[in-house]
Amino acid sequence: MSNAVAAIPNSSKAKQLRACMLCSVIQTAGDFRKFGCPNCEEILQLKGNSDRIQGCTSSSYDGVIAVMNPEESWVARWQRTSKYVRGMYAVRISGRIPEEIEEELQQRNLTYRPRDGKQDDMFQTAR
Ligand SMILES: [Zn+2]
Repeated sequence: MSNAVAAIPNSSKAKQLRACMLCSVIQTAGDFRKFGCPNCEEILQLKGNSDRIQGCTSSSYDGVIAVMNPEESWVARWQRTSKYVRGMYAVRISGRIPEEIEEELQQRNLTYRPRDGKQDDMFQTAR
């Protein structure tokens, strides 16, 4: 699993890029459709499901970080992505996952943290 890597988007496809609202990995809509989310496919089941992709990923995000060494990167730790595959991740994402997915997460004892930055004190105090 440590060799797993997200589909690194090719910049010529930049307009189709979407960020997963759960783990914030960035891929093209096409890659989400073909491969699903490399981190949360088990929960989100995005593969081949355009509606799910629309609901659970967002084309509106801020800041991109490339995570090549998820286990060592402090950025990754701060972004809570340390267990995720290598790839490109968004810093902030607009929107929330659908309620039904949030409920599913709760049933699995997982806490969904919206990645819109609003709950992050760090951003507030820095201003
Ligand atoms: Zn994901």
